[in-house]
Amino acid sequence: MGLIVQKYGGTSVGTIERILRVADRIVAYKQEGHDVVVVVSAMGKSTDVLVDMAKQISQYPSEREMDMLLSTGEQVSIALLAMALHQKGYDAISLTGWQAGVVTESIHGRARITAVNPERISQELARGRVVIVAGFQGISDEGEITTLGRGGSDTSAVVLAAGLQAEKCEIFTDVAGVYTADPRVVPAAGKLDSISYDEMLELANLGAGVLHPRSVEAAKKYKVRMVVRSSFTTEDGTNVEEAAEMETGRIVSGVAHDDEVAKVTVVGMPAQVGTLSKLFNTLADNQVNVDIIIQSTYDAPVTNISFTVASGDLKKTLDTLEQHKSLLCFEQVDYEEGLTKVSIVGAGMVNNPGVAAEMFRVLADQKITIKMVSTSDIKVSCVVPAEATELAVRSLHTAFGLDVAETAVVHGLS
Ligand code: ADP
Ligand code: ASP
Ligand code: MG
Repeated sequence: MGLIVQKYGGTSVGTIERILRVADRIVAYKQEGHDVVVVVSAMGKSTDVLVDMAKQISQYPSEREMDMLLSTGEQVSIALLAMALHQKGYDAISLTGWQAGVVTESIHGRARITAVNPERISQELARGRVVIVAGFQGISDEGEITTLGRGGSDTSAVVLAAGLQAEKCEIFTDVAGVYTADPRVVPAAGKLDSISYDEMLELANLGAGVLHPRSVEAAKKYKVRMVVRSSFTTEDGTNVEEAAEMETGRIVSGVAHDDEVAKVTVVGMPAQVGTLSKLFNTLADNQVNVDIIIQSTYDAPVTNISFTVASGDLKKTLDTLEQHKSLLCFEQVDYEEGLTKVSIVGAGMVNNPGVAAEMFRVLADQKITIKMVSTSDIKVSCVVPAEATELAVRSLHTAFGLDVAETAVVHGLS
């Protein structure tokens, strides 16, 4: 029997009762003869609670201290899960990211894992222990605690599975797998038996929060067999794998949405060579991540440039622009909050020029204003007003033939 890496998300370890249930599930794997490494997230919404506390002290808290604070969430759940296993008569040990050998870049808040040194984990496994690792955290070469970005425990699990050459990496969560859309928004969403790494990566990047995008990137790179499944039931989940069989010739495999989008328009910049470079380099130097960009140039000496950022980065974006106003020479900055990016994703749309047009028609039929558009080989995204999110996602889901009859079950709905 081989080694399995399992990851349990926040809802799955949200209460003591749930932690005890997770322990039962791990015991079942041990009884089958597997070695098990378990990665856990912080309990329930406890990371949000920690973020809130920091924001009550400062709008821009020190990034180092933020990581110090947020990494505590996972330390609570690993210790409690280890105790639960002890209580059930099983040998288990909890390890922080650094004890588990997870080394990251020297960046706070969104560090990438650069190496895994699994010696300690291997030693503990050799002693017959279940090893429980704090997800979402690592240590930099300078010896600083880092975190991987929100939702990053998925990535911890996949990278550990790669480093330990595990048989598979199971991501246990509050839904039964990867669905054709967020089942909280689309009750008619259907569970996929399998999905390719590329499509999953696109869905995750476009807001399908079921997996941290970098976990899919790592799974593809290191050929990790990844399964997304429910921690509340025993039903089969979704395999994320190379060259997964496509859903019977579907052009669109899923609809994703991201409802934390803000649009910024820089009005009246000089219409000359180098303007875009100056603007976006200034934003990048200040760690502002920009998504869709539109430039509207008329036959005039000035140009307007619009772009989207994550809502959480809006204040930083506006502050950065204001601080560099004399360098960038713009007239004013307008912004709009409360937007959603709705996307359709499918490898089958590469050679199908009508897909974007069909998406626009569906949204127009529902009288939904499209504010921005972006396309690639396997996706089309439209930015729409947030109040139209449900209508947009559901209409697209229906129009592209993805609706199923039974209603998806989501655990942990508050
Ligand atoms: P965990 O705490 O287990 O990591 P997350 O909240 O990060 O759980 O991810 C699970 C959630 O992802 C689901 O409850 C669901 O609302 C959301 N989600 C968004 N898009 C999808 C999708 N396409 N398929 C499944 N779940 C999705
Ligand atoms: N606890 C972290 C978060 O809430 C990491 C994770 O859950 O994966 O973002
Ligand atoms: Mg998650």
